[in-house]
Amino acid sequence: MSALKEKLGWRKVPPGGTISEAGSSALYKTGAWRSFKPVIDKAKCTKCLICWIYCPDMAVKRVNDGVEIDYEYCKGCGICAAECPVKAIRMEEE
Ligand code: SF4
Ligand code: SF4
Repeated sequence: MSALKEKLGWRKVPPGGTISEAGSSALYKTGAWRSFKPVIDKAKCTKCLICWIYCPDMAVKRVNDGVEIDYEYCKGCGICAAECPVKAIRMEEE
C-alpha cells in the first residue's frame, strides 16, 4: 500500500467500480476463486441447456456433444448443478 502511495497521487488512481475499457472481464480468470467445481456426467446429460442459460458467468459453453464448463471463469457457485433437471452435474471440492 505504501509503495502505491509513493508511485501514484490521488489524481492518478483510477476510480473504483468502473470499467475503463470494453471486454476487460476476459482478462480476469475468475475460476481461481472457486473452492468447488461442477463436473458434468455426459451419460446423464440430455443437452437441455438449462445450465447454459442459468450460469451467471457464462462459464457453461455449448459444444457439439452438449455442454462443457470453462474452468478459467467458473466461480463454483453451483447454480448449474442446482438447476440441472436430471442431476447430471455434481459439485466436487477442488
Ligand atoms: S442442465 Fe443438465 S441435462 Fe441440461 S445441458 Fe446442463 S448438464 Fe445437461
Ligand atoms: S458453478 Fe456457477 S459459475 Fe460455474 S458453471 Fe456452474 S453456474 Fe456457472
